[in-house]
Amino acid sequence: MFEGLREKLSNAFRMLSGKGKITEKNIEEAVQIVKTSLLAADVSYKVVREFVENVKKRALGEEVLKSLTPDQMFIKIVRDELIKLLGEREPLKLIHNPSYVMMVGLQGTGKTTSAAKIANYLKKQGKRPILVAADTYRPAAIDQLEVLGKKIGVPVITGDRKNAIRIVQEAMKQVKDSGYDVVILDTAGRLHIDEEMMQELEEIKRMVQPDEILLTVDAMAGQDAVNSAKTFNERLEVTGFVITKLDGDSRGGVILTIRYITGKPVKFVGVGEKVDDFDEFYPDRIANRILGLGDVLSLIERVERELDQEKLEKMGQKFVRAEFTLEDFREQIKEIKKLGIDKILEALPGAPQVDLDTSEKELRKIEAIINSMTPQERNNPEIINASRKRRIAAGSGTTVQDVNKLLKSYEEMKKLMKMFKKGRLPFSLKGFRF
Ligand code: GDP
Repeated sequence: MFEGLREKLSNAFRMLSGKGKITEKNIEEAVQIVKTSLLAADVSYKVVREFVENVKKRALGEEVLKSLTPDQMFIKIVRDELIKLLGEREPLKLIHNPSYVMMVGLQGTGKTTSAAKIANYLKKQGKRPILVAADTYRPAAIDQLEVLGKKIGVPVITGDRKNAIRIVQEAMKQVKDSGYDVVILDTAGRLHIDEEMMQELEEIKRMVQPDEILLTVDAMAGQDAVNSAKTFNERLEVTGFVITKLDGDSRGGVILTIRYITGKPVKFVGVGEKVDDFDEFYPDRIANRILGLGDVLSLIERVERELDQEKLEKMGQKFVRAEFTLEDFREQIKEIKKLGIDKILEALPGAPQVDLDTSEKELRKIEAIINSMTPQERNNPEIINASRKRRIAAGSGTTVQDVNKLLKSYEEMKKLMKMFKKGRLPFSLKGFRF
């Protein structure tokens, strides 16, 4: 996610690192790099021009904080400006009962998938959502929604497979007084914007008076996507966007430009094909990801949604107190496996690029080693002497070196936790706090 942009921007920050103070010359150079980075990320020119002007003004202004070094100060300013550009967070507004959410978007942007993701998201919040499959244009869409509905345990109304308006009419009758409180409509897309589609969407909008009209926009599609978002908004007055496929190597242009160009907020982001690969939009978290500060918060939220709360709280307290034992480590590995190691690595600041297959194998190995330890050893790794190491290695089908490696990384992890505890960020941003 945003790798190219992140790498390029880091050159600007590196330029300022080690510099004693901010001067007009070094800021000018850093700002130039920011400018070319954003343009290369397909951010529209107008947006870039205004962005760099703001950054420059602030960097040279009087607000230099003594506690920050020039590069930290510059990162802070860029981060603030990115957050401003991404726009304020606006959560879903569900007013009526039942409340209608209309999903609109071009074919292939992830409209059907996002409809199911939203249903899943609402269900987990205790709502009673129901899906309506009214994408009669793409033949497979209705079946696809039925499959997704089954997976998440949300009913899907299908009706007359040829006539979207009739499906919606039928659905409105069915949901009235049924106890379902949010009706999510998957409407028909097209490969390109056309009049027939717009008229159908306008008609459906008139019928259901939706609280939300969400347009799915493919993050990989660049400025074309922003332009079509503009047209959709002009015709339908959308209430917000779902930016999909942010997990791919999207350059960042769409998410950084769409609010500025349309004035409408991003409400959700799609970060994978699975129904849980879906996050509420938080501008600060996206900015952190762009800057390589990771997105630990979104990760934690996903973990909270998916994992056993109580266990997590216990783990969190231990983490803060830096009392994490190998027993906890083993539990953690199980959870990591459940979540998907790729998602975790992506969300961690400064995480190295790793080969996923190797990582999975490593995880299995670590688990086997910890399994071969006695509970006492897991809780007090200090007692693991040479003969215990040999026994553990034999028991887990690994080598003493493997056991040593694990114990060493465990020690490192503990050190890292202590740093977190002291409020210090590791890696290159040591000492930098938001
Ligand atoms: P629709 O034609 O707009 O309804 O699009 P679909 O919902 O069928 O999605 C098109 C393709 O994009 C499917 O293969 C989805 O699995 C995939 N997709 C949807 N959202 C995401 C996402 O956030 N990330 C990734 N990687 N793929 C997605």
